[in-house]
Amino acid sequence: MRNKLEWREAVVTRSEQIADDVRQFEFAVPGGVPRFDPGSHCNIKVGLAAGQTIRTYSCLPAKPGHLSVAVKHHEHSRGGSRFMWGLAEGDTIALTLPENRFELAWRAPYYLLMAGGIGITPIFGMAQALAKRGTPFRLVYGGRSRAVMAFADGLEETLGEAVQIHAGDLGQRVDVAAEIANLPPDGELYVCGPIDMLTAVKSAWQAAGRPMGRLRFEVFGDSGLYVEAPFEVDVQGLDRSVAVRPDQTLLDALMEAGVEMIYDCQRGECGLCAVDIVSHDAPIDHRDVFFSEHEKQEGRRMCACVSRLAGGRAVIDVGYRP
Ligand SMILES: Cc1cc2nc3c(=O)[nH]c(=O)nc-3n(C[C@H](O)[C@H](O)[C@H](O)COP(=O)(O)OP(=O)(O)OC[C@H]3O[C@@H](n4cnc5c(N)ncnc54)[C@H](O)[C@@H]3O)c2cc1C
Repeated sequence: MRNKLEWREAVVTRSEQIADDVRQFEFAVPGGVPRFDPGSHCNIKVGLAAGQTIRTYSCLPAKPGHLSVAVKHHEHSRGGSRFMWGLAEGDTIALTLPENRFELAWRAPYYLLMAGGIGITPIFGMAQALAKRGTPFRLVYGGRSRAVMAFADGLEETLGEAVQIHAGDLGQRVDVAAEIANLPPDGELYVCGPIDMLTAVKSAWQAAGRPMGRLRFEVFGDSGLYVEAPFEVDVQGLDRSVAVRPDQTLLDALMEAGVEMIYDCQRGECGLCAVDIVSHDAPIDHRDVFFSEHEKQEGRRMCACVSRLAGGRAVIDVGYRP
C-alpha cells in the first residue's frame, strides 16, 4: 500500500460511454504506473463551480503505463462526475498513482463478491484476478436495470456461471442471506455498493454468525437514504448557527463557518470528524460505515464528512470547550 500520494499529469487517451450513466476513461501516465492490485483507487483533481477538489475512482485493469476508471454520472451533485464526463481525448488531468485500501487477502479458499451499481469497479478486477488464479468465487452484481450496469455483458461472457446479474427493473433481487448461507464457512465476502446494500450485507453477515474479519467492504460515500436537503446546526458552546446547503457537507459548512474540526478520510470510514448530536428535529441520514447499526439508531453521533440531516435543525457538540 502506498502511503504518500504521488501526483502525475496524465493525458486522456480514451473516453467511452459503457452504460447509460457510466463512462470509462483511460489515461496515459508519464513515467509509467507501478503494478497495482484489484481494489486500488486513484485520486483525480476535478474542477467544480466552488473550485478545484479531489474525487476518487477505482482503478480498472489497464494496459502498461495507463490507468483506467469508470465514472457514474451523478445528476444532482457538486459536479465531480460531471467534470469527469466532460473530459475528452487529449485533455490533461492530475491524478495520483494507485493506492489500495480494499485489498483481496488471497487467504480464503472461496470468495463471494458482491457489487451494487457503480460498486462493480473495484469488484471487476477482483473477479478477473480470482478467475486468472483459478480460485473459486461467485460474483453477484445488482443494479437498477441492465442498461446502467457497466461491464455486465463482458463479465457474463468471460466468467460464465461464476457471475449472477440481478436487474432491478426485471424484478430480480439479490438474496443476500441466501448468498451468505451458500458461502463455505471459511469463505470471504467482498462487497462494494450503495450504503443500504452494505448495511443489509453487514446485518445478514452478522445474523449468519460469520466473523467480521472475513467481510471486506468499500463505500464510495456518495449515497444516502434521503435526498440532500438544506438543514441547520446550532453548535453548542460556540453560540453559532451554521446553515448547510444541499450541495455541501456538514464538515465543509462547519469549517467554512470557522468551526475547527479534526478529520481525515472524508468518506465516513475513520470517524475522526464525528460530532455529538444533542437534539434534532429531522431524521439523520447516516452515510458512514464507521458507526454500528445500533449506534446509528441511537442517533447520538454522526460523521460530519458524509452524514447529514434530512432537513430541519440539530444542536451538535463538536467537542469545543472554552
Ligand atoms: C475509494 C473510492 C472509490 C470510488 N470509486 C468510484 C468509481 O470507480 N466510480 C465512480 O463513479 N465513483 C467512485 N467513487 C465516488 C467518487 O469519488 C465521487 O464521489 C463521485 O464521482 C461523485 O462525485 P460528484 O462530485 O459528482 O458528486 P457529489 O457531490 O459528491 O455527490 C454524489 C452523490 O452524493 C449525494 N450528494 C450530493 N450532495 C451531497 C452532499 N452535500 N453531501 C453528501 N452527499 C451528497 C448525491 O446523492 C449525489 O448523487 C469512489 C469513491 C471512493 C471513496
